[in-house]
Amino acid sequence: MKIDVHGIHKNFGTKPVLRGIDLRVAQGEVVAVIGPSGSGKSTLLRCLNLLETPDSGTIRIGDASVDAARIGRREAARLRSKTAMVFQSYNLFRNRTVLQNVSDSITLRRRASRTEAERTGRELLERVGIVDEVVRQYPATLSGGQAQRVSIARALAVEPEAVLFDEPTSALDPELVGEVLSVIRDLADQDTTMVIVTHEMGFAAEVADRVVFMDEGRVVEEGPARDLIGNPRHARTRQFLGQLG
Ligand code: ADP
Ligand code: MG
Repeated sequence: MKIDVHGIHKNFGTKPVLRGIDLRVAQGEVVAVIGPSGSGKSTLLRCLNLLETPDSGTIRIGDASVDAARIGRREAARLRSKTAMVFQSYNLFRNRTVLQNVSDSITLRRRASRTEAERTGRELLERVGIVDEVVRQYPATLSGGQAQRVSIARALAVEPEAVLFDEPTSALDPELVGEVLSVIRDLADQDTTMVIVTHEMGFAAEVADRVVFMDEGRVVEEGPARDLIGNPRHARTRQFLGQLG
């Protein structure tokens, strides 16, 4: 397993938000996490790279692992280096060009020369369909779809073992959703290990290998994407999918 998460609990104050989550993701697998607002999906993703510290449980990603009960700084840094996150609001650096947003990550990650980092950066941007003069522009000039594709290129720049997406298309105008989903689909075809929190059920059914349905901090049901979305077994899952209609 590329990702093996066991028994994650997380409270905010006295409110339990994650109540014993297990999640396993194989090399090259795409797992979609679905569920109602407030069910803990973002918190789970944030726990995977320790943006939030779980109260208990274990997380292993590649050859890095931590036990929430005793997280050392070195292990935490190693675990963080295994994933890259793509957020709903693309968080690009506004005062860096598109290319710099990507190449900065490369130079930070490994001691690459600027020329080498820019060449790799251009290759990554080309993979997400960002080419020509756009690479020299600043993020403010981009459409939401372009900005999100740049965020994906930047995530890939750190050569993560897995990419974590938190509702990557939720902030986009409807006509821009397709271009971002198409990039994620290409990554899936190239066997990129991904965990994707999404409300795009058609996309999840088509691209994810497996779907995990969360509610109230628990995994209620999981299974092959088409089965779960097309033929959910639990009443709660049916209700949730029914509401999306
Ligand atoms: P989802 O992504 O499924 O909508 P979240 O993981 O964002 O759910 O949130 C789960 C619950 O945790 C919600 O009730 C939310 O209000 C609460 N929560 C999330 N982050 C914090 C925080 N930093 N402090 C307090 N409560 C939080
Ligand atoms: Mg969320």
